[in-house]
Amino acid sequence: MKLGPGPTGARQPNMLINQQSPASQEARVAIEPGFSWDAQHAYLFDIDGTLLRSRDRVHFNSFASSVQRVTGFEITLAGILLHGATDTAILREACLQAGIPAEVMEQRTEAILEAMRNAVAEQRFRLDLVRMPGVEKVLHYLAGKGALLGVATGNLEAIGWIKIEQAGLREWFRFGGFSDHFSIRPEIIGHAARKARELAGKEATVCVVGDTPRDIEAARANFLPVIAVATGKYSFDELQKLQPEACASSLADLLALTRTAS
Ligand SMILES: [Mg+2]
Repeated sequence: MKLGPGPTGARQPNMLINQQSPASQEARVAIEPGFSWDAQHAYLFDIDGTLLRSRDRVHFNSFASSVQRVTGFEITLAGILLHGATDTAILREACLQAGIPAEVMEQRTEAILEAMRNAVAEQRFRLDLVRMPGVEKVLHYLAGKGALLGVATGNLEAIGWIKIEQAGLREWFRFGGFSDHFSIRPEIIGHAARKARELAGKEATVCVVGDTPRDIEAARANFLPVIAVATGKYSFDELQKLQPEACASSLADLLALTRTAS
């Protein structure tokens, strides 16, 4: 199925490709005119839904087990939007939802976060992670073009790096932005972009890569371009509606387009 022309005045993607991917899902890519997705100086990759997905519940369960261990209160993540959210914001929302008093949270949040880091570290070999299609090829391709690669994620730093290591991707990343000190994603992205420019030069172009509307919003809030990949919870159409500079059904499909076009 080809995308038809958009409404008058809408920005038009300049490339569309339709082919069968191995999973027999339709491969789709749309790129804004003038945007070179593979010619940015630095990239900030989201982790969950973008680089990998978890088939285990180690990280998920660490919220409730850590709150229980540190405060004795029971929490649940039911009803909380997790996709594109940050660990620190999820924790706060779950604790509010459970009616944990503000003064308890004020005093115990750091201890809970530390218990979460420890819980995931202790169970790192139980993580069951799957790399998203084309991830390693894209990292290899961009690094080969001289790009600086970092992660920018709502995970706590220790947890994010454990996932990256367990997925066998650690060698590609030089720096990261995490939620330990920032509970909202635009601040994580802003912080990571500053780090990228410290390393790559203050005029460096920095591009966000993510799988949710929150990644796109966080990039926009920092005036950064964004590559959206529909490998998480959101479909190509849902992401493309928000007009990212590039949108792809997967990183593998994005790379396949480039190789087809070059
Ligand atoms: Mg994500």
